Amino acid sequence: MLRSVILAAARSHRVERIVETAPVSRSIVRRFIAGEHVDDALQRTRELAADGLAVTIDYLGEDTTNPEQAETTRDEYIKLLDALHAAELTPAAEVSVKLSALGQVFDEKLAYENVRAICAKASEAGTTVTLDAEDHTTTDSTLDVLGRLRGEFPTTGAVLQAYLRRTEADCRELAVEGSRVRLCKGAYREPESVAYQGRLDVDKSYVRCLNVLMSGTGYPMVATHDPRLVAIGEDRAKWFERSPDEFEFQMLYGVRPDEQLRLAQAGYTVRVYLPYGTQWYPYMMRRLAERPANVGFLARALRSRG
Ligand SMILES: Cc1cc2nc3c(=O)[nH]c(=O)nc-3n(C[C@H](O)[C@H](O)[C@H](O)COP(=O)(O)OP(=O)(O)OC[C@H]3O[C@@H](n4cnc5c(N)ncnc54)[C@H](O)[C@@H]3O)c2cc1C
Repeated sequence: MLRSVILAAARSHRVERIVETAPVSRSIVRRFIAGEHVDDALQRTRELAADGLAVTIDYLGEDTTNPEQAETTRDEYIKLLDALHAAELTPAAEVSVKLSALGQVFDEKLAYENVRAICAKASEAGTTVTLDAEDHTTTDSTLDVLGRLRGEFPTTGAVLQAYLRRTEADCRELAVEGSRVRLCKGAYREPESVAYQGRLDVDKSYVRCLNVLMSGTGYPMVATHDPRLVAIGEDRAKWFERSPDEFEFQMLYGVRPDEQLRLAQAGYTVRVYLPYGTQWYPYMMRRLAERPANVGFLARALRSRG
């Protein structure tokens, strides 16, 4: 219930204006987001790499409504990839991209051309791209774009959301040689017709999907902070005789940093999802929705403008 209310607020421009200008927002933004500029992302990447962590960088922004904005996002990624290459931070750092930020909502062909340019630059820089998963209305389009990109850039990664009823079948399709798949629970508000609603059902689906990915021939990316699922990930890797370079764990910047280090020190590859940019509002609201303990922040932000 609370999760639904926060996710609804994530789409409200009125609440966005209040939260963005509330003084209390600054500390929580600092916890989850690298900063506003490429240099901030580079600095955090250096720090994480020094701790033995890999990184995937996201330039914040989604649901772009015009071609100019989509091209600005594409150019920012190209600038970021040039900077990562020059700083010798590839291949440890790759990038995560939301197709809705590149025009998917109004022109799928434009989104494809934009993401193709980013993939070409990533390949030149010695790294790769993962396509983030957004709400279920975009899943078919995103997987279609993924399939086309893989023809030219075979290491392009997918994200599948365990809360969607379709995902076990998508895992079977994608658990193939050379295929990188990030499995997460899913962060959007989705109807019962397409998504499991209860936590237990989502967790059970996650385990079924993990079994498919771990028993296949692709490269699973186990994206969760859930201690039980991390333990099951470790267990399945042993069961299916995967060495630490045949799968990875992924977690969000600012969430369970001690666990990220513990897993890295135990010899696993751990990739941290590191967002930067000024468009942090929807991303941060999804993080708040995941953790009701963080909701006090939202109440303080709204009260400060009450
Ligand atoms: C690397 C990565 C990439 C992702 N990419 C996508 C994507 O492309 N599309 C998409 O829909 N979703 C994405 N997600 C988000 C994901 O779908 C979940 O919403 C999110 O990871 C929370 O689920 P969980 O598996 O961590 O389990 P949960 O059951 O939500 O959390 C388990 C435990 O982790 C801790 N925790 C979790 N979240 C937080 C938080 N925000 N603050 C503090 N503690 C927390 C708490 O201790 C909690 O009890 C991604 C997640 C990760 C880690």
